[in-house]
Amino acid sequence: MKLLEHQAKAILDRSGIRLPRSIVVTSPAEARAAAAGLGGRVAVKAQVRSGGRGKAGGVVLVDDAEAAEVEAERLLGSVLADETVASLLIEEAIDIAAERYVAVAVEPSRGLAVIMRSDRGGVDIESMTDAIEVTPLAAFAPEDGPRGEIDRRLIDIFTETEALLVEVNPLAETTDGELVALDAKIELDDAADFRRDPELVPDLEAAADTATGTERERAAAELGLRLIELGGDVAVLANGAGLTMATMDAIANSGGRAANFLEIGGDAYTKATPALELVLSQPGVRSLLVNFCGAFARCDVMTAGVLEAWQALRPDLPVSFSISGTGQDEARAMVRDQLGIDPHETMREAVTEAVAAAAEAASTQEVER
Ligand code: GDP
Ligand code: MN
Repeated sequence: MKLLEHQAKAILDRSGIRLPRSIVVTSPAEARAAAAGLGGRVAVKAQVRSGGRGKAGGVVLVDDAEAAEVEAERLLGSVLADETVASLLIEEAIDIAAERYVAVAVEPSRGLAVIMRSDRGGVDIESMTDAIEVTPLAAFAPEDGPRGEIDRRLIDIFTETEALLVEVNPLAETTDGELVALDAKIELDDAADFRRDPELVPDLEAAADTATGTERERAAAELGLRLIELGGDVAVLANGAGLTMATMDAIANSGGRAANFLEIGGDAYTKATPALELVLSQPGVRSLLVNFCGAFARCDVMTAGVLEAWQALRPDLPVSFSISGTGQDEARAMVRDQLGIDPHETMREAVTEAVAAAAEAASTQEVER
């Protein structure tokens, strides 16, 4: 999970790394007050997880509180690289003499933790890979002095929080010769969530994954459902990540495009009504594919959930079922009884039907227009 800048900075702050003074705000009025409190000259910084905010207009330096309010008004609620800006960091402006780069990261290609350092930091660092010195942590000895001290602290943060990345870019050298972390990125290793000391990562609740994604994806996440929107016209409910991915492939292979998918495995069938509502509320959906493969999860239990949702919502669009595995006979009978359609025995047949139904609905709409 990627932390927001202000969450990453809270961790750096605790380890004693120098930061500009800053305040998190969620409204233009708060931005104005925060800027005034910080002396007027501030950086207004969109709190989004994607990099390159500066270049996308998400970091703006202003001279007074009024201008901070104007920028806050512009940024809050806007979309930067697919993320809606919900909060801003108002940060005292720093007079920068030089920008440095430092990151501690897992380098997946080599399976190594490395430290990356450069005397040239800033927004163009990605295109200056030659200027970055990469050293495996195991072979790294921090130098004496303030720069080495920062390296040491970042390495400790990386190790203690079980991060995949701890990056400071720029590490600004001020005109007074001090080193200040102007920007910070931390990505935690989700696989270590269960054993990470919660004290190490403040505010983690607020950082949960519900903060990313489209509006419907976030609504799903808040219900504990996994929905991904894709933009085609076949909505998909399937159980389990593997079957869901296979379903995506099968739709593409038969010339269709999935509108979205929602994994309805585990206990998600108990939330089938909001699940169905979410997948069908996406504009452009023209057919629904329900693909269940039972093993521990029983087809009849999952199907009962979906049928209950169907009765509650009574949607007006074609639906195709593929049902096989544990409980398949009961499940197929339920669909036949309640919807008067025959579930398919193979995924291929159901996919072909759902893709054709969507195409048919699309051409009918064309004719009506
Ligand atoms: P990023 O684009 O997401 O990496 O956002 P950063 O927080 O790194 O900001 C982008 C750039 O804005 C930095 O590299 C700095 O050059 C500049 N910047 C940010 N804050 C300040 C500041 O307080 N003073 C000055 N002079 N420049 C700043
Ligand atoms: Mn940066």
